[in-house]
Amino acid sequence: MTERLSTVPADRLEDVRRNYLEITERIARAAESSGRKPEDIVFLAATKTVEPEIINYAVSLGLRHIGENKVQELLSKYEYYDLEHCDLQFIGHLQTNKVRQIVGRVSMIQSVDSLKLANEISKQSIKNGITTDVLIEVNIGGEENKSGVNPDKVEELVAQTALLSNIRVRGLMTVPPICEKKPELCKFFEKMYHLFIDISDKTLDNVSMDFLSMGMSDDFEEAILSGANMIRVGSRLFGARIYR
Ligand SMILES: *Cc1c(COP(=O)(O)O)cnc(C)c1O
Repeated sequence: MTERLSTVPADRLEDVRRNYLEITERIARAAESSGRKPEDIVFLAATKTVEPEIINYAVSLGLRHIGENKVQELLSKYEYYDLEHCDLQFIGHLQTNKVRQIVGRVSMIQSVDSLKLANEISKQSIKNGITTDVLIEVNIGGEENKSGVNPDKVEELVAQTALLSNIRVRGLMTVPPICEKKPELCKFFEKMYHLFIDISDKTLDNVSMDFLSMGMSDDFEEAILSGANMIRVGSRLFGARIYR
């Protein structure tokens, strides 16, 4: 990690500290309400647009997982992350031609939604002599022009990816449709949970369904109550972004 002179105002850090404590408390309560332990839920911070100084401050508070969603931004911040104390994942849409820039730099790629992409991750991982963990991203609402594989094609993609070398499926991820009402949103979360359980029950070789990654700033408690064990929270922790 390269040190940079901190220019972050103290009140900004104080906000992050307060938010971090509030979120971990809410995660703990939702975990317990769903019959699990707080430590069963992975709290990953979505760090897009956030300066490394602020990310590392959150890591100093106990944050252990961060996720970027743009390759260029990840690369430009890469040398500043405190990767001795947190793991870095990729959570955004990934183009095949950018795979080689992140394989070996991230512990997991959460956004595999085609065999072509899985193939390239496999190829680059072989080249680097490593195995890359991935989640299959599901377009649970079947929305047009949205990343993710359609729900009825998920099992096939999991099975096909499992046949490739140096890549390991660790679960599913989704960004559900924007819903005006929480019960409508929970239907998508529950649909994801069923898909996750159905595939887990198949016990496919080279697949270990460890993570169901869903729930963001406005809905992470609902996601946990529906069975998520990994949430991705950005703005609730770091403050509203200037741009998305
Ligand atoms: C930004 C982002 C999040 C977090 O969104 P917030 O609403 O800011 O919590 C989660 N997942 C992905 C893929 C993201 O890009």
